[in-house]
Amino acid sequence: MTTTKNYDVVVIGAGPAGYVAAIRCAQLGLKTACVDEWLDEHGNPSLGGPCLNVGCNPSKALLDSSHHYHHILHQVKDHGITVDGARIDVVAMQRRKSKVVTMLTRGIAGLFKKNGIERLVGTGRLIGSEKVTVTALKGSNEPEKQLSAKHIIIATGSHPISLPQTPIDGVNIVDSSGALAFEEVPQRLGVIGAGVIGLELGSVWNRLGAKVTVLEALEDFLPAVDRDLASDALQVFKRQGLDIQLGSRLTASARTETGVRISYQGPQGERQIEVDKLVVAVGRKAYTEGLGAEQAGLELDERGFIVVDEHWQTNLQGVLAVGDVIGGPMLAHKGSEEGVAVAERIAGQAGHVNYETVPWIIYTWPEIAWVGSTEDELKNQGIDYRSGTFPFMAIGRARAMGEAAGKIKIIGDTNTDRILGVHIFGPQASELIAEAVVAMECDASTEDLARTIHAHPTLAEAMHEAALAVDDRAIHF
Ligand code: NAD
Repeated sequence: MTTTKNYDVVVIGAGPAGYVAAIRCAQLGLKTACVDEWLDEHGNPSLGGPCLNVGCNPSKALLDSSHHYHHILHQVKDHGITVDGARIDVVAMQRRKSKVVTMLTRGIAGLFKKNGIERLVGTGRLIGSEKVTVTALKGSNEPEKQLSAKHIIIATGSHPISLPQTPIDGVNIVDSSGALAFEEVPQRLGVIGAGVIGLELGSVWNRLGAKVTVLEALEDFLPAVDRDLASDALQVFKRQGLDIQLGSRLTASARTETGVRISYQGPQGERQIEVDKLVVAVGRKAYTEGLGAEQAGLELDERGFIVVDEHWQTNLQGVLAVGDVIGGPMLAHKGSEEGVAVAERIAGQAGHVNYETVPWIIYTWPEIAWVGSTEDELKNQGIDYRSGTFPFMAIGRARAMGEAAGKIKIIGDTNTDRILGVHIFGPQASELIAEAVVAMECDASTEDLARTIHAHPTLAEAMHEAALAVDDRAIHF
């Protein structure tokens, strides 16, 4: 007979939303178990979900490696450095990436141990509102486990959307995970989707020497990004060699002897190109397979996301959901904050997430980062604003680094001067945006930023100058 183990909280899914929720629950004295089914490339259980295993972190490892290589080939000579015979060993680069992943995922396992979280490997299935069964993964002869908990947190995340015209074969047609694992540089790489993943992974292989063509169905480039910055970024990325074709919708694909022939409908009509590898990066959808949502009566919306109220409560009493599986920005840090907040609410505290200040980052080079509203959004809402823009080319540190492309734009409310949005296209935008997030979290005004001393010489001076520019008093431009 199977015995049922009792917990205060069972978390299903150990990605950035789920593992963080589990740690916070345990910190708050709740008896916590976390169920996860992820297996790494060697078939071993691995915590952290796609973000740590095949997403955010491995992609940053490859972005860094390819950045160094590109820098050596094209930029270090400006510093008086000559490097002869530089070449890239893709297998070694991938080995380093795997080491980074292993270190990070083992780190989460260590945190689970430290916090006394019970880690269960298998697929968690919801049985009503207080029970979860854990089915062992293929190849394991572990019996099914029954768990019961006062609170269940679902954090099962998302997975890539596939297109019927280009079924993923894992060899020539791949999703983002496949594009992180090439063992050699494809000569010709096709990417479907000029979104976050398409641009980041397109950049990696472009820097390493692939001829990259990116097909984007929309006419607008990066529609969520400030129009000014998106237009600058498009020009810079094209100069880097990314062949970004807007208004181009994939219609069919066929395997050829050496790769894939893609047919698409573009501004010039029906076109075909041939590539060695094709990456499909057209978005992600909620992952609820195996969760037993329908049998348990868990409400999903028409796009498959779990429906929650403002406190992440689903329609089933005691069952909460956080992260990609509930929709909204599909960002690890948004999921983690929801994980913390939901754990605190379970423990009787006032957990809260400020969705107004979720930062977005696209890790191209230069990077794109923003928080808050764009000018277009404010115009549509009829909100009066003033904006100030400052280019990195007028910043000493950026010049010294040889990184003068891009700018920072700060938008403030005309009446209150409260910061409504900050938009960066430039070097280290991913780090610079943190200042803007803190400022907005503290309800700062553009004048507060303008009166804040920024160290010289730093890239952050562009933030200071952009704040001054809101009031037309930038010093260096
Ligand atoms: P995305 O939504 O960012 O971009 C997908 C793009 O594909 C869109 O521009 C869309 O118009 C285009 N597209 C869709 N169908 C098409 C077709 N048939 N032909 C041509 N183009 C088509 O999605 P993504 O890049 O796959 O990323 C998935 C999710 O993961 C996103 O929500 C993203 O926020 C998240 N993510 C974030 C980061 C980060 O924060 N840096 C990194 C990777 C992924």
